[in-house]
Amino acid sequence: AHEGILRRQAARESAARTYARALPIVPVRARGLTIEGADGNRYLDCLSGAGTLALGHNHPVVLEAIRKVLDSGAPLQVLDLATPVKDAFTTELFRTLPPGLADHARVQFCGPAGTDAVEAALKLVRAATGRSGILAFAGAYHGMTAGALAASGGASDVRVARLPYPQDYRCPFGVGGEPGAELAARWTESILDDTKSGVPSPAGMILEPVQGEGGVIPARDDWMRRMREITSARSIPLIADEVQTGVGRTGAFWAVEHSGITPDVMVLSKAIGGSLPLAVVVYREDLDVWEPGAHAGTFRGNQLAMAAGAATLAYVRENGLAERAAALGTRMIAQLQSLADDFGCVGDVRGRGLMIGVEIVDPEKPPSSPGGPHPAAPELAVAVQRECLRRGLIVELGGRNSSVVRLLPPLTISDEQASAVLNRLADAVAEVAK
Ligand code: PMP
Repeated sequence: AHEGILRRQAARESAARTYARALPIVPVRARGLTIEGADGNRYLDCLSGAGTLALGHNHPVVLEAIRKVLDSGAPLQVLDLATPVKDAFTTELFRTLPPGLADHARVQFCGPAGTDAVEAALKLVRAATGRSGILAFAGAYHGMTAGALAASGGASDVRVARLPYPQDYRCPFGVGGEPGAELAARWTESILDDTKSGVPSPAGMILEPVQGEGGVIPARDDWMRRMREITSARSIPLIADEVQTGVGRTGAFWAVEHSGITPDVMVLSKAIGGSLPLAVVVYREDLDVWEPGAHAGTFRGNQLAMAAGAATLAYVRENGLAERAAALGTRMIAQLQSLADDFGCVGDVRGRGLMIGVEIVDPEKPPSSPGGPHPAAPELAVAVQRECLRRGLIVELGGRNSSVVRLLPPLTISDEQASAVLNRLADAVAEVAK
């Protein structure tokens, strides 16, 4: 079955699909961190549906919530009508919102994917401000629809200004840390205030508190506060894209909490649906300029996703899984750091909570500036990914050069499982570095 399924899908499906294209596995069963393939092999899944599975595969609490709806005779498709299931979801969602937003928030169901919520957010701030330009960051990823794609640096006719996103390892200013972040903030200010070549009438700024697809680059808290300052001073709504960082992933329920800022708009998807498709945009109620029908869509009322999502949000909150992610993530990153000490091809280890990246570089090639990082090594990264898979570990690659090995384990991962993940990754790196 394994070979036949792989062969038929390779022939039938466009190569344009992105995730895990290179992984020759056929998942047939899964529980928690573990996936079982049609070939009988078992894998530790640190891709987690690109960060969708906060509680891992088929968590009993999620399955129970889904079963309850199925057994209740409740309708599964009612467009966006109010239902008890939706009521329970929004109650739980509002309970988790950052304090500054919780009391004055509106939610708009979009759907079913993260990119739909990004699109809605961009449309909302443009309608609310009457302006049109969008501010986004180098290396960002927001999705594949026209506006989200433009904000991610792709070809589109939506007008987007690209601003510098600070990073310590490949700092565009060559200084990294707080000075690099401050330079990036000043550059942003100068672009916004340049009346000749600056950005005409920005309607909003969209940013990821940790760039995920861009290579797991956590924004510094002080830079996040500067972005809040800069946008507030110019009455530009700030949109936090928490599609990947949300629901405890980074060690806070929402990643904006690390810096204490309150965004005007939050874009949420992935884990909020408890493994089923769900996407919402949450925003300050005074931005609520939608007229009835202004943002429609057939699949905005997925009852099973709302039930699975509400169960996930409640479980993460009640079991302190964000705190757990913070503590375990810190330990995992510290242990991975020793890989960077031992192997020249591990250029950098970084992350926040259980959103972890290991940048693979070519130690044979000289850094482009003295003391700077070695060039990224995408082919070595693919080799590490392949060696991981041979050892029963699924990891994803990301980053501007596809040279960052990404770990997004479920927040429920045990200490023993985390050790197994780290050991397999270390063995894979050692093999490739031979
Ligand atoms: N925003 C961010 C930060 C993401 O990581 C992603 C997906 N990786 C998206 C938006 C788009 O979500 P989707 O793939 O569900 O459209």
